Amino acid sequence: MAWNDQIRRQFPFIERRPGVSYLDSAATTQQPQEAIDAVRDAAMRGIGSVHRGLHPLSDESTDAFERARDVCSTFLGAEYSDEVIFTNGTTMGINLVARSLGERWGEDDAVVVTKLDHHSNITPWLQLCEHRGVEIRWIGVRPDGTLDEKDIDAVFHDGRVRLLALTGQSNVLGTRPDLAVLAALAKKNGALVCVDAAQWAAHARINVAEIGCDFLACSGHKIYGPTGIGLLYARRELLANMPPFLTGGGMVRSVTEEGFIPAEAPARFEAGTPHLLGAIGLGAAIEWQNQWSWDDRVTHEKHVLTLLLDELRSVPGVNVLGPANGKTLADGPVNASVSGCIAFTVDGIHPHDLADVLGSKGVCVRAGHHCAQPLHKTLGIEASVRASVGIYTNDDDILALAPAIRAAQKILLR
Ligand code: PMP
Repeated sequence: MAWNDQIRRQFPFIERRPGVSYLDSAATTQQPQEAIDAVRDAAMRGIGSVHRGLHPLSDESTDAFERARDVCSTFLGAEYSDEVIFTNGTTMGINLVARSLGERWGEDDAVVVTKLDHHSNITPWLQLCEHRGVEIRWIGVRPDGTLDEKDIDAVFHDGRVRLLALTGQSNVLGTRPDLAVLAALAKKNGALVCVDAAQWAAHARINVAEIGCDFLACSGHKIYGPTGIGLLYARRELLANMPPFLTGGGMVRSVTEEGFIPAEAPARFEAGTPHLLGAIGLGAAIEWQNQWSWDDRVTHEKHVLTLLLDELRSVPGVNVLGPANGKTLADGPVNASVSGCIAFTVDGIHPHDLADVLGSKGVCVRAGHHCAQPLHKTLGIEASVRASVGIYTNDDDILALAPAIRAAQKILLR
């Protein structure tokens, strides 16, 4: 059986949604049977409060939760399991870093952000600017999705940059900044590095040690796990000195009328009852993925993205955005190649109208600014349409798109 057929058989949604071409995995991925079953089985067996109770159900739940953390920390290449904090998603992870570190920063400090980034890796830093007077410095982006080198050279000039926040992979153009080079530059200038891996983690092997980052956030629902659960990696030495972001039960060593002493990480950053079933589902989704080689996954993805690009180019009036607009997808340098998605516009049709018609024909794409307004402004447009792929995407999914766009043109350009 072909590799992709074997994968598809393990995703129940494919059988239950005949006639649907799901091209929106960058927004949220579907879940394999194993991840669904893991959550169901845990709930059926009975659960208990994690790290709190003394009875067997609680002990089992605590073990399952910490086992999931081990799986997740191996997935990210973390040296220690306690460097991984369960969050509710990428957005929360980045907010945690910004709020916790930012408590000690002020007007003498600066944070560097990029125009390639999702609002989740922009607004927490803008809020620091508003609340604490931290200066925000921007690295611009070129229409081909590469970061502007002159900005990169300029932003670190005075040693005031405390942190560089950037994406591992754009959720619009699918481009990847050269993280290793940028992280090294930030380090040389005394800055920490916070990577948004929401998109990246579904399309390449992540290794925080190789990247040289201090923080990295991702979301379970974009890596074939459940919604409402995510991961934040943070270096152990940093966590040891960071104040908690949220406070409450489970994150304290002791509480008196005068104050409280926080627990060590990761508990310090996991206030409240944790999302046990989410962690179990995410751990199972990652273990499921571990059986497939990254080489096969990347080869398959290049195949479907190249087909997608060819199909889009075959439709008059379609304008592909970013480097996919160039000649080749597969062979360019890392930061000029594309992974995960291709965004485009269609002459004379608003992206929302197009996505609406495509949806009515069973082709699920995303339309809008994709929470990346600074990038869209750079591209000189308000919105775009994005088709994105996952491990289960096949040729038929892709081949449904161009005829649906042509049909939409007939309806909407009358
Ligand atoms: N960053 C990027 C690049 C994303 O694509 C997304 C989700 N669209 C996020 C951050 C936010 O992820 P979440 O909503 O799961 O917190």
